[in-house]
Amino acid sequence: MRKVIVQKFGGTSVADTEKIKNVAKTVIKEKENGNDVVVVVSAMGHTTDYLVKMAKDLSPNPSGREMDMLLSTGEGVSIALLAMAIQAQGYDAVSFNAMQIGIMTENVHSKARIVDIKTDKLKKNLQEGKIIVVAGFQGVTEDGEITTLGRGGSDTSAVALAAALNADRCDIYTDVEGVYTTDPRIVPKATRLNEISYEEMLELAHAGANVLHPRSVETAKQFNVPLRVRSSFKTDNLGTLILGVDKMEIYKPVTGVAADLSQARIVVCDVPDVPGQAAKLFGNLAKEHISVDMIIQSYARKVSNTNDIAFTIDSADLDKTIATLNNMKKDLNCGDIQVNDNIAKVSIVGAGMIDRPGIASTMFETLAELGVNIKMISTSEIKISCLVDKDDAHKALKALHKVFELEGDETAIVKGDLPNV
Ligand code: ADP
Ligand code: ASP
Ligand code: MG
Repeated sequence: MRKVIVQKFGGTSVADTEKIKNVAKTVIKEKENGNDVVVVVSAMGHTTDYLVKMAKDLSPNPSGREMDMLLSTGEGVSIALLAMAIQAQGYDAVSFNAMQIGIMTENVHSKARIVDIKTDKLKKNLQEGKIIVVAGFQGVTEDGEITTLGRGGSDTSAVALAAALNADRCDIYTDVEGVYTTDPRIVPKATRLNEISYEEMLELAHAGANVLHPRSVETAKQFNVPLRVRSSFKTDNLGTLILGVDKMEIYKPVTGVAADLSQARIVVCDVPDVPGQAAKLFGNLAKEHISVDMIIQSYARKVSNTNDIAFTIDSADLDKTIATLNNMKKDLNCGDIQVNDNIAKVSIVGAGMIDRPGIASTMFETLAELGVNIKMISTSEIKISCLVDKDDAHKALKALHKVFELEGDETAIVKGDLPNV
C-alpha cells in the first residue's frame, strides 16, 4: 500500500538554489519509492532573522499582526522555488500556503497553536499524483488573519500535517545528523542517539535543544506520529527516531543535556502573603499569552508578612512581562520588580533518573566544582534544571555532558538498528 510521508526541510537545507535542487532530489526519491509526499519548508537560510531585524529597525515594538504578515513571507518564497525545482526535474508539484490549505490556528500572534488542518485539498492533490509543498511556520485564523507558530515552528507544521493525514512517517531533515546527547555545535563530543522517547525529547526541546520545536514533539506524542530527525546532506543516514518510552530500553540515567540562553528571571519582591496573589500574578501573565517556566515563592517573612515570587520567562516576552507587571503593581501591593536577563537554564534529561537517587547531587556537585552558582532549581520526573549566569552556561553543559558519561560512546546509550517504520 502507498504510504504518506511528510518531509520537512529547515532553513539551512534550502539556503540557496543549489541546496533547493538537492532537496528536490530527496523529495523525488521518496516519490519514486511509490509514496505520497507532502513537503514542508522553512524560509531560506537566515531570512526570518533578517525580516525581524528590518522590523526592529523601523519600530521598537511592532504590532503582532504586522510581524506575522512580514515573517510569513519567508516561507512563501521557498515553497514556490522548491515546487519549481521539482517540476524542472519532470515531476508534478504544487505549492500551498497555510491559507490555501486551511491550517487553522488560534487567534494569537507570533506563537499561535494549530487547532485544525483541512485535508480535502491535500488529499485531492495527492490522489492526482502531485508532490505537495507546504509553507511551514504559518497559519490562519477563522477570520482570515495570518499567524505564525513561534520561531522554529515549521517542525510543528510538519508534524501537524502528518497527524492530520495519518501519515506513515514524518522526517525532519536538518543540518545535523539527528538528535545528539547535546548540541554538537557546543560540545563536539556529543553522541548521536539512534532513538529517544517523546517524553525525553519534549523535555530536551523545552530545555533549549532547538533541533525540534517543542510543540512538534507534543503533537507527535499526542497523535503517535513516527518522527525522525535526519541529515539533509547525508540522506542515507537514518538519523534519530523519536518514539514512545514503552518501546525503549534504558541504559543510562541521563539521556541528554541542554542549555537555554534565551531566558529572563523576574523577582516580584514583598508580595503580601495572602491567598490569591499568585493566581492574580500568573493569571494576568497568562492572559497576555506569556508562558512561565521556573517558579519559586520564598517563605513569608514574619515581620512584614510578605514573600518574594521569582519566575523565568522567554526573554522575547520580557518587555510585555514588565509592562503587564507594572500595570498590576498597585493591585498586587508588592515592592520592587527585579529583572535579570543575563541568565541561562542548564538541564539534564533522562527517563533513567526515575527512582535513581544521587542524580541531582551529582549535578550540583559538578556545578560547585566549576564555581558555578545556582540561582534557581526546578525538577520534573525526568528532568533537573538549574538557572545559572549566562557566561557559565556552556562550561556547565560540557562538564555535565562528561560527568553523566554521554561523550563518544554511542552504542552505550542505545543498541540495535532503527526500527523500520
Ligand atoms: P532547521 O533550520 O533545520 O530547523 P535548527 O537550527 O532549527 O535547524 O535545528 C538544528 C540545530 O539544532 C543544529 O544545528 C544544532 O546546533 C541544534 N541543536 C541543539 N541541541 C541539539 C541536539 N541535542 N541534537 C542535535 N542538534 C541540536
Ligand atoms: N522560518 C522560521 C524561523 O526561522 C520557522 C522555522 O524555521 O521553523 O523560525
Ligand atoms: Mg528548526
